[in-house]
Amino acid sequence: MYKKDFPFFANSKTVYLDNGATTQKPQSVINATIDYYTKYCSNTHRSGFGDAAIATTEFEKSREVLQKFINANKKEEIVFTSGVTQSINFIASSFGKRFKNIIISSLEHHANIVPWQMQNRTLGNGLLVVNCSDNLDFDFTHFEKLLKENPNSFVSIAHVTNAFGKIHDIKRIVSLAHSYSCPIMIDGAQSLSGFKIDVQDIDCDFFAISGHKTFGPTGVGAIYIKEKFHDMVDPYITGGAAINLVDLEQGTTFLNSPYKFEAGTQNIAGVIAFKESLKYIENIGYKTIQKRKDELMQYLDSELKKLPDIIFYNDLKDCSGTRSFNFKDIMHDDISILLDKMGIAIRVGHHCAQPIMNKLKIKGTIRVSLAFYNDFSDIDKLISSLKRAISMLK
Ligand code: PLP
Repeated sequence: MYKKDFPFFANSKTVYLDNGATTQKPQSVINATIDYYTKYCSNTHRSGFGDAAIATTEFEKSREVLQKFINANKKEEIVFTSGVTQSINFIASSFGKRFKNIIISSLEHHANIVPWQMQNRTLGNGLLVVNCSDNLDFDFTHFEKLLKENPNSFVSIAHVTNAFGKIHDIKRIVSLAHSYSCPIMIDGAQSLSGFKIDVQDIDCDFFAISGHKTFGPTGVGAIYIKEKFHDMVDPYITGGAAINLVDLEQGTTFLNSPYKFEAGTQNIAGVIAFKESLKYIENIGYKTIQKRKDELMQYLDSELKKLPDIIFYNDLKDCSGTRSFNFKDIMHDDISILLDKMGIAIRVGHHCAQPIMNKLKIKGTIRVSLAFYNDFSDIDKLISSLKRAISMLK
């Protein structure tokens, strides 16, 4: 029904079920990219000639669209980055460094683990990890214990975990962190494509966004920074465009947020085109997107459960678009090779979340991640291919 809006599906026969890795892009996003490069390619926030002014206007419009999209209070709270990885690295090195301890969960993507470990190497600050249950539920009792013992820590938690699609009760996590005076960042890489984000309602202090996982271009993302932190966050990379005055004797003064955080030439085409993906989502509406994904997930789950010796690690009820599983006595890598030959795109392995795989004592899983543009026939093809693969491997 929606595939017609995404040129990938007209050009590829692949049954695309790897939306957790990246999403397909609607024609409007592709058109906006082409328009920038073919009609007004110029740098932003520098030159004053006509095309450069158009580029700057379009770039800044994206900031406003994203601000409204996530209900940030001001457009100055939106800083463009290359994606969630850069957003987390930025906040780790520019703000997280102030804290003696960082609290994450055991279900995090490596992007929300490794930057903190690197900081630990140089600054020696501690990394505290909230446990989860065998069913992958966030352990609130353990979280509160860590907060109580380590007030004034910085907390960084994924909204939706990538390996299992597990949705965290983020409002409860934020409010508990704040009750111990801990600022908190939410890794929204997997959530913005699936449901409405309202950063004022969540009340998080930082929210990391990935363009390419939200039907936008690769190499673009953003970080929402609550205004009260603007003066406490140092520029991450420095250079041109972010400065007020540079003097060889007196040093440098910076512009205000967001510009002090956007040194150098940005991914202009990417930022400009990103707003088209947000407009596309708005046109369809999150209600429709969620309903469609829920229906697809129910069907996927019921069909998977008919397969022999399938092992799940969490309940369907708190999964967002992603189902992760294994088959007893079958290597997930073998399934991947066979499914690829049958034209099915899924992901197998540790999904950049090795710590949770270690906890579960597995090397990885088979991950099917859906988007609203998938249809029931994609799931039928997946299931028949899985059946064939299993019969070959048993
Ligand atoms: N965090 C999570 C939960 C993810 O799923 C991913 C990507 O898979 C990332 C961070 C990294 O995001 P990006 O590709 O935008 O850097």
